[in-house]
Amino acid sequence: MSHSRISIGHILKELERIYDPPKSFIDWKTPLDLLVATILSAQCTDVRVNIVTKKLFKLCRTAEDYRDIPRVELEKLIHSCGTFRRKAKHIQGLSHILINEYKGEVPQTMEGLVELLGVGRKTAAIILYAAFEKLEGIAVDTHVMRLAQRLGLSQHKTPEKIEKDLMKIVPKEQWGRLNTLLISHGRAVCTARNRKCGQCVFMDTCPSSQARGKKDLAQER
Ligand code: SF4
Repeated sequence: MSHSRISIGHILKELERIYDPPKSFIDWKTPLDLLVATILSAQCTDVRVNIVTKKLFKLCRTAEDYRDIPRVELEKLIHSCGTFRRKAKHIQGLSHILINEYKGEVPQTMEGLVELLGVGRKTAAIILYAAFEKLEGIAVDTHVMRLAQRLGLSQHKTPEKIEKDLMKIVPKEQWGRLNTLLISHGRAVCTARNRKCGQCVFMDTCPSSQARGKKDLAQER
């Protein structure tokens, strides 16, 4: 099924005009902070992660700190982020790999990052862009998925396939930026439920615009 095309250039231009998001919505100072915080952010809000890491990052500055902290203490510290046992296991597991294979540093390649426990392409793309200014992929989270579908940029359902579609049409220099721009719009206007098409800058061009009686393409699939 084909849908009327809205140009990616237009989308990016408008989003850049309206929003000025940071490179990531979570607080961090070092690549290791960012790695740990993105693991904690799975099924958790950025606000909650930032509260938790405020204390955690004071206690743990290095991969050795994460390796050496007693598991129960780490679990207690990150408890409110949810699935804390699994997250603690991943953090300590990857701290061993960082120490043994990367001299305690965070690897700077997609291949190196996705080999770490608990790190998928989404997390890796965020870290590469935000911490190392490298563009090796597009981080596709729930907002990016929904907006890509609604705006007709991808007809796929999985993050992997949506990422491939986006990588074909988005200029590479915008790969990192796209994630936070779409998240900003997804939070403010194009929300999961009750999207506010009447207030949206894409009201007249979006193939899911409720204001023009269009169906939600993110729901159709
Ligand atoms: S017009 Fe509606 S569906 Fe399309 S991007 Fe805007 S809020 Fe989302």
